[in-house]
Amino acid sequence: MTKYIIVTGGVLSGLGKGVAAAAIGKILRSKGLKVDICKIDPYLNVDPGLMNPFQHGEVWVTKDGYEADLDFGHYERFLDMEIGRDHNITTGKVYLTVLERERKGEYLGQTVQIIPHITDEVKKQLYEIARLSHPDVLIVEIGGTTGDIESMPFLEALRQMRMENGKENVMFIHVTLVPTLDAVGEQKTKPTQHSVKELRGIGIQPDILICRTVKPLLEETKAKLALFCDVSKLDVISNHDVESVYEVPIIMEEQGLGDNILAKLTLRERRNDMKEWKRLVERMKSLEDEVEIAVVGKYTDLRDSYISIVEALRHAGTHHGSRVKIRWIESLELEDDPARVNDLEGVSGILVPGGFGKRGSEGKILAIQYAREKGIPYFGICFGFQLAVIEFARNVLGLEGANSVELDRDTPHPVIDLLPEQRDIEQMGGTMRLGEIPLTIQEGTLAHRVYGKTEVGERHRHRYEVNPDYIEKIEEKGMKFSARSDGGRRMEMCEIPDHPYFLATQFHPEFKSRPLRPAPVFLAFVEAAIRREKG
Ligand code: GLN
Repeated sequence: MTKYIIVTGGVLSGLGKGVAAAAIGKILRSKGLKVDICKIDPYLNVDPGLMNPFQHGEVWVTKDGYEADLDFGHYERFLDMEIGRDHNITTGKVYLTVLERERKGEYLGQTVQIIPHITDEVKKQLYEIARLSHPDVLIVEIGGTTGDIESMPFLEALRQMRMENGKENVMFIHVTLVPTLDAVGEQKTKPTQHSVKELRGIGIQPDILICRTVKPLLEETKAKLALFCDVSKLDVISNHDVESVYEVPIIMEEQGLGDNILAKLTLRERRNDMKEWKRLVERMKSLEDEVEIAVVGKYTDLRDSYISIVEALRHAGTHHGSRVKIRWIESLELEDDPARVNDLEGVSGILVPGGFGKRGSEGKILAIQYAREKGIPYFGICFGFQLAVIEFARNVLGLEGANSVELDRDTPHPVIDLLPEQRDIEQMGGTMRLGEIPLTIQEGTLAHRVYGKTEVGERHRHRYEVNPDYIEKIEEKGMKFSARSDGGRRMEMCEIPDHPYFLATQFHPEFKSRPLRPAPVFLAFVEAAIRREKG
C-alpha cells in the first residue's frame, strides 16, 4: 500500500519547497524505497503553459508533452525519473473535471459543492496516481502558501485523507522560513509559529518542520519551535543555505530526516546508499577550473526562467571538472544598442536559449553572428536554433530580411515558418509540438559524434520550424542539417562544419540532463568552451 507525504509551505513563497520535496524523495530512494512525486498547483489555469515566465519561472516540458511548473525539473533531476502529465493537479484541472461531469448530468439531483465534490475529485486524482505507479511513498507537494484561499479545498481534501487512512499512512511536512535579524543574528520563530497555527486551524498538525534559514538552526531555535509547534526537537529540520541545491538531501539526512520519516510511516529501510550523490556534491564544491559562457536571453533578470539550462551547464561542467560561470546578456539591451555586442568579449561559449516573440530577437541574432564570425563555440536551443538559421540566411546567403514568420509576417524570405499542423489552430494552451519525439542523426556529423548514435529522443516545445524550401540553399552554403525527424521532413539540428564548434537544436536537451547523466549536447558544448578557454 502507498503511503503519502504531503509537503505544504508556510510564511512566504519561493522557499524552495520543490527542492525540499525532491530532496525528501532522494533520501527515501537512497533507503531503497520506491518513490513517486506529484504536485498540486492551486491556480485556475488548467496547466502553466501560457503563463509568463516572469511570473513563474521556466515552463518545464515532460516526456509526454505536458507543460509543467519548474518544480517538475527538480523532481526529475533529483530522482532521475520521467514524470508524466497526470502528476500535476491544478485547481483548473479539478474544477474542469467536476464541471464537465456536472454538465453531463452525472450529479443529477445533487447540489455540487466544494465539499464533497471538489475534495473527492482531488483525492480520486491522488489515489489514481498511486494506483498506476504503486510506489511505497507518494510525495505530494502543494504549491502556494498555507492560508491562501486557493489552497483551502486541497488542504481539506488532504486532511480527510489522513483521517481516512491513519497517521501512519499520511504525514504532513511543513516547509517554512526562519528569518534572521541581521543586527543580532537572532533566529526568529514567530512566522513559523503563526503558519503552523494557520494549518492547525484547518485541522492539520504537521509532523515535521523543514525550516529555511541562512545559517544552520541553533539548538535553542529548534527547541523553541518544537515547543510552540507541538513537535519533537528531532522533527525540526534545518534547511540552511548551501552552495548547491544537490546538497539539500545530504544536510537533511544528517539530521536524521530519513529514519524519522520511516518511523512515522512504519516503513523499514531496505538499503542505505547515497555515496554516489555525495561524491557528486563534493566534486561540484571543489571544482578548480572555470569556464565562462554567455547566455543571451530576454528574461535574464529572472534567472528562474532558465533554471534547467543553468543546471544542465552545471552538470556538464562538473563532469569536465570546470565550474561554469554564466555571463548574462540581456537581448533587449543588445538590440537597442548593437555596440553592446562587445559585452560578449572574452567568453568561451555563447548560448541562445528558447524564446518567443520579436522583442529581443535582433539582439540574439547579433550574438549569433558574433559567435559565428569569431569562431566562438555556439549552442542554440529551439529559438536559438531558428535564429541561427535566420542569421546564416541573412549574412551568408545574403537573403535580406530573412526571418521567422513568428517575428515578421511579411518577410520576403520566411526561412522559419509555421508548422503545417499549427496553421489552423486557434486555441493556444498546450497546442505546440510538445514532448519527446524521436530523431535521426546523420552519420559522420558533429551531432553524431556528440550523441554517438543515430536514433535519439528529445523533448520539444515549438510552433515554428525550418521552411523546407530553403534547406538546399542553406546547405549549399555550408550549414548542415544533421538531424531530422518525421521521416526526414523536419530539421532538428544544424551545424557549421568549418566552425570550431557550432551546433543548435530545435529541441530542448536541457530537460533530459541529470546531475549524474549530463545531456550529450551540453557536454560537448562545455567541452568546446573549455578547449577555447584553455586556448
Ligand atoms: N518561438 C519559437 C517557436 O514557437 C521557439 C520556441 C522555443 O524556443 N521554445 O517555434
